[in-house]
Amino acid sequence: MRSDHRRAVRLRAACNMANLSTPLGLLVAAATRTRVVRGPDGLIVGFGYRPRLPKAGAFTVGNVVLFRAGIADVAARPRLVAHESRHATQYAVCLGLPFLPAYLAAAGWSLLRCGHPALRNPFEVRAGLADGGYRTPRRP
Ligand SMILES: [Zn+2]
Repeated sequence: MRSDHRRAVRLRAACNMANLSTPLGLLVAAATRTRVVRGPDGLIVGFGYRPRLPKAGAFTVGNVVLFRAGIADVAARPRLVAHESRHATQYAVCLGLPFLPAYLAAAGWSLLRCGHPALRNPFEVRAGLADGGYRTPRRP
């Protein structure tokens, strides 16, 4: 790992701890009995998340990424982990918890524009739609 990348990863982890988004993610994991382990790039990764909401295969709160899938399935999808890692960076850029209302507003805006909460959502687009498993409609 390059030293500038390592520094950026440490800075993101420190920001998301200080802005309380990572502690909130750990609280969600504990409240839902989702087991977490240390992941790549300073992420904390949980597997087997069970509650019905949010309706997503994975979601990120601070540096905590919670997957519905098990560890073997997630290990086979490094692009999805990279996508969620970009969301962790977005939390740091948004100073933590303000990410949540900003993301919800962007999802609503996307829903109004194209009928899908992710395809025109700038947070999802910047995180990489294909990496996140979203199918982008073909443009004529
Ligand atoms: Zn995403």
